[in-house]
Amino acid sequence: MAKNEEEVKRLKSLSSKKGKGNRKCSRCGTVKGLIRKYDLNLCRRCFREVGEAIGFWKER
Ligand SMILES: [Zn+2]
Repeated sequence: MAKNEEEVKRLKSLSSKKGKGNRKCSRCGTVKGLIRKYDLNLCRRCFREVGEAIGFWKER
């Protein structure tokens, strides 16, 4: 299944179209604990949830 890749692309396009300077979680809107490592603009909590869904956190 390519669902995981689709989810990543969707999240990336969501966060990139808001432009630079937008340091908010694209999912819940918090400004705390953001992870921008994967260009997702997600906070740690959302990253964890989404990450599990798309397979980033398989080992945990
Ligand atoms: Zn969030």
